[in-house]
Amino acid sequence: MKILIVEDERPTSTFLKRGLTEEGYSVDTAETATEADEMVFVNRYDLVILDVMLPGADGLTLCRRWRERGMSCPVLLLTGRDAVRDRVAGLDAGADDYLVKPFAFEELLARLRALLRRRTGELFEQELVVGPLTLDHSRREVKCRGEVLDITPREYSILEVLMQRVGQVVSRTLLWESVWETQSEPNSNVVDVNVGYLRKKLGDDSSMIKTIRGAGYRLEAHPDGN
Ligand code: CA
Repeated sequence: MKILIVEDERPTSTFLKRGLTEEGYSVDTAETATEADEMVFVNRYDLVILDVMLPGADGLTLCRRWRERGMSCPVLLLTGRDAVRDRVAGLDAGADDYLVKPFAFEELLARLRALLRRRTGELFEQELVVGPLTLDHSRREVKCRGEVLDITPREYSILEVLMQRVGQVVSRTLLWESVWETQSEPNSNVVDVNVGYLRKKLGDDSSMIKTIRGAGYRLEAHPDGN
């Protein structure tokens, strides 16, 4: 799950980035409208957190422009204003939800999860099934033989990419680009470590994820021919 934070106030941006990264999301940041404009069209984000008060252009104008260009990614507005008129203006500009500053981080997380759930429900079929694994997009959970796996959002995303490409070799670079930050160099070791965690959580079914030497990983529905 990739999130873009558009906020010119460093302390807020740093705080949000740290918090969301700890939750397992991949986070990019932009400080100006121009920077945000470029990033939104170069990268594929699952959600944008957009501050209304920005240097250059305000968040509402930016959001309206993105919608006019056909960008459909959910936008959560951060606003310092609480007037009803401003809220309506935000929703009119095409934002999906808004939070009034100051807000509790827990509330931001709750809003964000709701938006992501709504989004994935619209985009994908509810369930993806591979062998003993069932990935439920609407609940954002994976079951293995009927038991819900205790996995982080990042491990969920890895499994999602592998399940969408079952039987195919998935390179570490593709996993990195799909799951981690786009602003940084691919880090194969981090990918390997997280796949390792995921295997551990799959227990007896860990052999479903094969390491393909020099190439990446492949998910097999029935690794032992069962
Ligand atoms: Ca601001």
